[in-house]
Amino acid sequence: MRPFEKLLLENKAWAEEQRIRDPGYFSRLAKAQTPDILWIGCSDSRVPAEIIVNAQPGEIFVHRNIANQIITTDFNSLSVIQYAVDVLKVSHVIVCGHYNCGGVKAALSPQRSELLIVNKWLMHIKDVYRLHQGEINALQSDQERADRLVELNVIEQIQNLAHTSVIQHSWKRHLRPVLHGCVYGLTDGIIKELIRLPPETLIHPIYQYTDLPET
Ligand SMILES: [Zn+2]
Repeated sequence: MRPFEKLLLENKAWAEEQRIRDPGYFSRLAKAQTPDILWIGCSDSRVPAEIIVNAQPGEIFVHRNIANQIITTDFNSLSVIQYAVDVLKVSHVIVCGHYNCGGVKAALSPQRSELLIVNKWLMHIKDVYRLHQGEINALQSDQERADRLVELNVIEQIQNLAHTSVIQHSWKRHLRPVLHGCVYGLTDGIIKELIRLPPETLIHPIYQYTDLPET
């Protein structure tokens, strides 16, 4: 069977199963969503947010892109963050990277002219590498270097989040959300927390919005 036809059939079977298990499931879920968590992860097909944390539809607001980046000129991720924080009022934002990330590995390699757009997206990870190249280059193997850059990339993305006006405003006014930087292991399925920034975190003065209103 072709992949798309299989997908539609699987969807029908899933919807039917849900209806049998819980007849009110779809009508209840259709009314509203009240997720308490925003998940920012990699687009990699092996890291499906809801499945790896055993969450149900409605529990997690999800944004995924190549190598789980928060780039402050990217209106896609910024819109998701603003909506999740200001409208859904989430208490936690998780940035979850993963070992063996193709995006991070590619960022450690020379640029490829046939992937002009992807190169631009990965440029930010090259910058993370350059910022930490002393530490990364001291590691023994390519695998260790790639794994460490995966971790450092997550930590940098958490810092990028903390530098946005949306997060700083919400920290000041509502004392939420807590920011969690995590990494997922493809070989053991385990998520490990690398960094946590609570709302009282002091960030570097050059990134501070000092004139945000209290309300
Ligand atoms: Zn990835």
